[in-house]
Amino acid sequence: MRKRIKYLWESAVDLLLPRTCPVCRQSLDTDERYLCRRCLATLPRTHFEDIPFNPFEQAMMAGPRIERAVSYFYYDRGGAYASILHDIKYRGMPALGRWMAARAATDMAPGGCFDGIEAIVPVPMHRHKEIDRGYNQSRVIAEGLADVLRCDVVDALVATRGHATQTRKSVQERLDNMRDLFALDTARSPLVAGRHVLLVDDVVTTGATLLACARVLSTVPGVTISAFTLASARLQS
Ligand SMILES: [Zn+2]
Repeated sequence: MRKRIKYLWESAVDLLLPRTCPVCRQSLDTDERYLCRRCLATLPRTHFEDIPFNPFEQAMMAGPRIERAVSYFYYDRGGAYASILHDIKYRGMPALGRWMAARAATDMAPGGCFDGIEAIVPVPMHRHKEIDRGYNQSRVIAEGLADVLRCDVVDALVATRGHATQTRKSVQERLDNMRDLFALDTARSPLVAGRHVLLVDDVVTTGATLLACARVLSTVPGVTISAFTLASARLQS
């Protein structure tokens, strides 16, 4: 009975407010959540978890030792799958981010790429920006992973100032721009000492943001670092 009421309710909500797939913009069936079956089936997976020294791991070479770096799917700027990221970040859909991250963990964990992970650390967002948006998209992705991997999300990092816009800058300029952009949270960072943490962001484009965070995180005694992003640009390898 409860299921029937839930179904009726969802059908009514669909009528009032048609839910659409962010990729193809077709309306979703009541049993589809967030993405339609077709777009999920054709998700352009990176399969980085199966590639030794994958492009993401290569991009992280300039920083401290990273155990593994994996992404769930590829996106192209302006491409259909980029709209998932856009919806999570700018269209107020944190639940989509959490759901996609949980799917990623469910799909990828059996291959062992998250083995040994003890805590999840999201790339932080500057406090003012987070208040503005209402949430940090990296944190909702971290929460979706944590739901499946059953470990804690620890806000071990803080953003000390806002980002300047990063487009049209070289990697070196981006790195310079990011110096001192992140710092350890003095109260929470001791919680990841001696643990294997998964550093999480929504996307990796050049790796500069994750590198800057990994550098700061690596100063915690005994910490081991892996990295995850929901999506990856087509990185040059
Ligand atoms: Zn679709």
